[in-house]
Amino acid sequence: MDIQDLAQRVTAGERRALARAITLVESARDDHRAAATKLLAALPQDRQALRIGLSGTPGVGKSTFIESFGMMLTAQGKRVAVLAVDPSSSRSGGSILGDKTRMDHLSRDPNAFIRPSPSQTHLGGVARRTREAVRLCEAAGFDVVLIETVGVGQSETVVAEMSDLFLLLLAPAGGDELQGVKRGIMEMADVILVNKADGDLKAAATRTCADYAGALRLLRKRPQDPDGYPKAMTVSALQENGLAEAWEALETLTDWRRANGFWHRTRAAQARYWFNEDVKQRLLARLQVPAAQAALADLSNKVADGVVDPAAAAQDFVDQLGKV
Ligand code: GDP
Repeated sequence: MDIQDLAQRVTAGERRALARAITLVESARDDHRAAATKLLAALPQDRQALRIGLSGTPGVGKSTFIESFGMMLTAQGKRVAVLAVDPSSSRSGGSILGDKTRMDHLSRDPNAFIRPSPSQTHLGGVARRTREAVRLCEAAGFDVVLIETVGVGQSETVVAEMSDLFLLLLAPAGGDELQGVKRGIMEMADVILVNKADGDLKAAATRTCADYAGALRLLRKRPQDPDGYPKAMTVSALQENGLAEAWEALETLTDWRRANGFWHRTRAAQARYWFNEDVKQRLLARLQVPAAQAALADLSNKVADGVVDPAAAAQDFVDQLGKV
């Protein structure tokens, strides 16, 4: 495989090349990993898409929202990529974006690119692949990259680590409870969108939105937010109401963060985070090499027999690991 050629085609925005490149970064094979690393290094560093993380529990309207929000953006001439981090995909064997009919129009839009979540057992693995796919989409000239995840805890943190902005989609609540949304997840949100603000649900959505706006005001003010953020707004993904306002709120926030250095600072911190993660992954992978496993078993026996002290054995092992 000619990596330089693939990098060039991705950079030229060729969709098939992009799809191939993502398949490459998703592969766990050693030779593919090496090729993927080369590919990522060959990409231009100066292209930046707006990376938007989007979370919400199943049924809240994520795919309906992505479809109508995405179509609105492509109608403005923007190129939109949609990726997913689905921690459940390994269990179900499917994935949240696996069913393309969920975004029927957007998936046929030449200015959009939709990629289902890679399936894997570890969230960490899915996360790394998705982050690399984000980089590929960015290099391919996409203006907006939406990264979807389901609201089940850990995956939000992972998506927030690869997003510039984080959107939390909620449904109108029946009562006055805050739907048991974990505080940590609320603290991550830059904009909360209460969806389904239409028909019979409109009044409940407005009430829920006010509740969340109140709750957001009680959170500690974050340095990366101008006045009025984080924000809660109502939308109807189905009737396409409030979408332009939501986009405007995101743009305002983005412009402010760029102007005040927070955009750059967040990206720098994220790059550090992923570097550390990759170092850990590579060290863990090295532990699996047969020679390392043999040395580990040998030293472990010696420690058990009292021949070697655990600390000395550990030191010896780490020294050996540098050489395998
Ligand atoms: P997801 O599981 O979060 O991706 O949710 P879906 O987009 O599949 O939507 C779940 C259900 O909610 C579907 O029946 C949608 O038609 C419905 N839905 C989504 N958005 C809206 C909306 O804005 N208003 C109303 N009334 N229903 C919606």
